[in-house]
Amino acid sequence: MDNVLLHLHPDFSEELERVILNWNSVQTEKRFIGVHLKRDFEKSLLTKGAIELTKAFQLGAQIRTESGFSPDNGILIFTEKRIFEGNYYQLYYGGSEETDPYPIVDVVSLDFIRNLFNQLKKGKDYVFQAILSNILNAQAQGAGLLTHDDTRGCILDFCNYMPDILVGLENGPKFCPKDILNVKKLHKEYLFELAEVVEKRRYKIDNDKEVNTRILSSEKPRLEENASEFDYDVALSFAGEDRRYAEELAKELKHQNIKVFYDGFEKANLWGQDLLVYLSDLYRLRAKFCIMFLSNHYAKKLWTNHERQAAQNRAFKESREYILPIRLDDTIIPGILDTVGYLNWHEERVTDIAECIRQKLLIRR
Ligand SMILES: [Zn+2]
Repeated sequence: MDNVLLHLHPDFSEELERVILNWNSVQTEKRFIGVHLKRDFEKSLLTKGAIELTKAFQLGAQIRTESGFSPDNGILIFTEKRIFEGNYYQLYYGGSEETDPYPIVDVVSLDFIRNLFNQLKKGKDYVFQAILSNILNAQAQGAGLLTHDDTRGCILDFCNYMPDILVGLENGPKFCPKDILNVKKLHKEYLFELAEVVEKRRYKIDNDKEVNTRILSSEKPRLEENASEFDYDVALSFAGEDRRYAEELAKELKHQNIKVFYDGFEKANLWGQDLLVYLSDLYRLRAKFCIMFLSNHYAKKLWTNHERQAAQNRAFKESREYILPIRLDDTIIPGILDTVGYLNWHEERVTDIAECIRQKLLIRR
């Protein structure tokens, strides 16, 4: 079975993992494997700006090698950057020739997708649907199908022209009659299964434990120590009900010239709301530590539904070095080990907590 490594973009990693499981469960031709990126790779791909296509290909190839996979395994990576200049609507580039220095690396650029969907006031779901369709398009091309210039509402006119993409998203990821025949001729029927998973977003498997064991990730740690690259020393995560504590600490940290990300200083809608997004999101690339205010309110925010819990646990495990917990009460937060040292807000003065943080930053540097 062929492997296709799929970069788990931090904004969509949970959704992508579920889709991967579904893909893997409906067909036996391609095995999709989710890969988390190391911090430096992630940062170079997921911060704004432009990226040379060659550079993106090179990164993709490097990620594949460092995850221990040979160049005959495909890899698909996402970048927030533009891969072409100007107003060219290219979302996706891949299917490099065998003679290329970086074979079977596909690059999906989210720059245009996000811009357009912001203008259309479409949300994350729409962007995700576009991502899935891009992946399917990449797989179809990889299987030997050709894109066509005329619009047929087909997955194979999907990658080049935004209006076509919008039609494609409305219609669902279908193959035109000609390409249905081509798929059959090439014996690539698994593409139909992929299309069906994309269209219905069939989530047959609803067991997070299975997500954990069946999704292989790169063994490399996601966070690498390189203090100078961080925009903030610490970021504060808290439930809205506990804002007064966070604000008090934020002010003290600022007073001590510690660079702090606190939504009272910089508006960020999701702050303290969605921890999973928060932990896996680009913020994580921006602060050396996350100060987490653990409380009854915080726990309620985290586990509004059971399904998320395992994913949260995993996020915590991966972030062990990154999280500095402060307890506001005795609520147990699954995933945060009891052995992780924490401060008790009610036993410390805020100046002492700030001092501890300052010490921690000194060690880290
Ligand atoms: Zn077609």
